Amino acid sequence: MTISLSLVEARATGDSSADASGSPAVVEMPAEELQRWFVQRGEPSWRAHQLRRHLFQRGTTDYAAMTDLPLALRQQLQQQLPLFATTLVQHRSAPDGTHKLVLRLRDGHLIECVLIQEQDRATACISTQVGCGMGCVFCASGLAGVVRNLTAAEMVEQLLRLRACARRGRLTHIVVMGMGEPLANLQQLLEALRIACDPRQGLGISQRHVTISTVGLPARIRQLADSGHHYHLAVSLHAPNDSLRNRIVPTNRKIGIAAILSAADYFFQRTGRQVTYEYVLLGGLNDTAACARELSQLLAGRKAHVNLIPWNDVPGLPYLRPDSRAIERMIRTLRQAGISVKVRKRKGAQIDAACGQLRRQLISTPPSPGSPTVSPALPDFPQPIDPQGDIIPVTPSALRPLSSMPPVAPQSEPSDPLTDAAAATAR
Ligand code: SF4
Repeated sequence: MTISLSLVEARATGDSSADASGSPAVVEMPAEELQRWFVQRGEPSWRAHQLRRHLFQRGTTDYAAMTDLPLALRQQLQQQLPLFATTLVQHRSAPDGTHKLVLRLRDGHLIECVLIQEQDRATACISTQVGCGMGCVFCASGLAGVVRNLTAAEMVEQLLRLRACARRGRLTHIVVMGMGEPLANLQQLLEALRIACDPRQGLGISQRHVTISTVGLPARIRQLADSGHHYHLAVSLHAPNDSLRNRIVPTNRKIGIAAILSAADYFFQRTGRQVTYEYVLLGGLNDTAACARELSQLLAGRKAHVNLIPWNDVPGLPYLRPDSRAIERMIRTLRQAGISVKVRKRKGAQIDAACGQLRRQLISTPPSPGSPTVSPALPDFPQPIDPQGDIIPVTPSALRPLSSMPPVAPQSEPSDPLTDAAAATAR
């Protein structure tokens, strides 16, 4: 099976990315600031609208293709005003249409984003933080803790770059399931999604085609429910009781499943949108008959959908792939309780598309001479949260060994936006 892999410096490809000088990029500039830029150079302010329409609505990512701009102006823009603030470090694509990009931010840190394509869908999976402070034991993104939140522009830029990879040149869905805990960076995320869903000046993606995933920050879930948007919510549960979830999702120790479900119930009552529960099946740990019964009791009576994500075992990590009988038992038990359930399909496994996997490899591998710079080392602790789900100052605690991240397991089930798109992530 052929895998396309390119390791490129963006400038070498003609990509209009930020340079080290730190001059603002178009993707970072509010419309008024861009207007000023043109006016200061003797151009009409409506050039700003022209340029933003190219970037956000038409998907043009190269000045050379903006042929309705005068050639001299295009050359000036190419030299003085980068379109993007990040640099493309690596682009991998798989035969199933999955693309994974690793981007280098201005401060040198690396982030990942993934495009998952099906016949009629092109779903972008984006990151919201550099690293992650939630510390899920099976996840490469959280192995070294969180470094910082991404800006709204850094999130929008992931969408623009992924759209440029899409077969039809457009995105239909967004899942916020990449690196980071989205609700820990809610303000910037909402701003990014505002641009993504703006039908007139943004990317024009339907709010109903956006899913935000969280390990469960109750205060932020309520805030999202009250925000008046039409985004969907997915809660990464992974265990039916606190003692087991505390082991799999360490931040649960300060929150507890009851508070998370209460907030998720509030989200449903407030928005009318069914909540999805993500459940990574770890063989012999959370896939037992007792866990299946407990999970079905926990969710019975709720308007809930469960996505089961079978684990693939990997040397070095103490988790096993669930056997098919355990998966079938989990499905049967949940369905008997009236709960909708699907098993996640796997996509992009050939290109290390699981959350944080490729970035981790790049950070761990010293760059060869002439290759792009990689991120500096990350701090070795996760970011804790208080019982209300708000971020509190980082302290060195709950250290975990560094390991590699395995992909999720292959399964075939009917498709839905979340299931398919999330297939390339590790949540
Ligand atoms: S699974 Fe998600 S929330 Fe958990 S550590 Fe990874 S990125 Fe963070």
